[in-house]
Amino acid sequence: MTEVAAGTRTVTTIAELRALVAGRRADGASVALVPTMGALHDGHLALVRRARELADVVVVSIFVNPLQFGPNEDLERYPRTFETDVAALAGLGVDAVFAPGVDEMYPRGADGGTTVHAGPIGARYEGASRPGHFDGMLTVVAKLFGIAQPDLAVFGQKDAQQVFLVSRMVVDLDLPVRIETVPTVREPDGLALSSRNRYLGPDQRQAALVLVESLRAAEAAAGDGPSELLAEGVAAFGDHDGVSLDYFVVVDPETFLPVGDDFRGRALVLVAAFVGSTRLIDNAYVDIG
Ligand code: AMP
Repeated sequence: MTEVAAGTRTVTTIAELRALVAGRRADGASVALVPTMGALHDGHLALVRRARELADVVVVSIFVNPLQFGPNEDLERYPRTFETDVAALAGLGVDAVFAPGVDEMYPRGADGGTTVHAGPIGARYEGASRPGHFDGMLTVVAKLFGIAQPDLAVFGQKDAQQVFLVSRMVVDLDLPVRIETVPTVREPDGLALSSRNRYLGPDQRQAALVLVESLRAAEAAAGDGPSELLAEGVAAFGDHDGVSLDYFVVVDPETFLPVGDDFRGRALVLVAAFVGSTRLIDNAYVDIG
């Protein structure tokens, strides 16, 4: 274990993390886990602050999980900013940064072991565009829960389908972990913070605002019912050079299934679009009817 700042340790093996957590647990401490892929921004740090409020011991994992990337995705070029990540986490009083190598997490190879299947909702929306993504994500989250044995784990609403599926996994597999959700952290102009925003050039950064604008347009039309809301949201994409809409959908937050036209109440609008070759997602709750 490497001493990074007072109290923050970087741990690369499962055995070391287990020992660290077990020691604190023996003293009666509660444990929170914040799973990340690094390249940390203020959205991640909001999760860490929440974890710090809720538990005695905070573990942040930094692991770019190959299992949740498709063959044509950005695994190789995914941003890695480990030193600055660890410094930011030390500044927030994180107890342990768990940064295992791929071999430590997948000793049988990334495709050779037991995996978690996300079920039918895992094949929709993000899962339709990124086959296998949610199986890979849930597999690593289940492993991290088994390794750190946290009392609670903190996720961002930014990845709404992810937090839905993690919550469902915890229920379906009877995992003794409480899931906490933190609202999406945005730039002052509304763009949701994302590690992938750094791929955007200046014009693309401007064009990327169409995602949040489409959500605002949908929200403004929510009183007129689901079809109007959808029409207004999609219309926001109009003619944007270099932007292509992947999906725009309104779901029931309880089931994550698309709402029917007679749906009234609190719904969740999900949007995904390519800005150049960068795939961005966003979402917002709306009150329909
Ligand atoms: P990632 O490193 O992209 O896998 O994200 C790690 C965690 O940070 C996930 O729970 C994300 O939902 C969360 N997260 C990412 N971006 C944001 C944001 N803008 N606001 C809040 N949480 C976020």
